[in-house]
Amino acid sequence: MIRVAGERIADLFALAESESVNRPNSPYPNRYVGLARRIGMRYTVRLPTEYRERYCRQCSSFWVEGRTVRTRLRGGHRVQTCLSCGATRRQRYRGGRPVPSALPTGATARPQPAEVMADIEEEEPSDPLSEDGEE
Ligand SMILES: [Zn+2]
Repeated sequence: MIRVAGERIADLFALAESESVNRPNSPYPNRYVGLARRIGMRYTVRLPTEYRERYCRQCSSFWVEGRTVRTRLRGGHRVQTCLSCGATRRQRYRGGRPVPSALPTGATARPQPAEVMADIEEEEPSDPLSEDGEE
């Protein structure tokens, strides 16, 4: 039964996808997402990752980039704002440099300039005239 539930969820998301493409103002994609989520809860099936990023967790509206969701990259996070209810979803994105505020308190992001200068040893200039000359 769990296998059937997974298939049903995949079907519903496929329906939501095609419906949102073919009829931009159709209310059905949101309905399909709601059904898929209910099936997932009923049979304790986790929605696959690719589906979980396609809807609003607040109002179950199907997310279409630029139309029902706005995505911005900010400070190493991907911030998705639902344009139906205004809920936001923040996620770290791969490859992003950790933002200073994300570091544990007290940790320094980089060595202080004074420490860097202390690490550089002064080289003794070699004197080319000190060689023993043939005379
Ligand atoms: Zn929403």
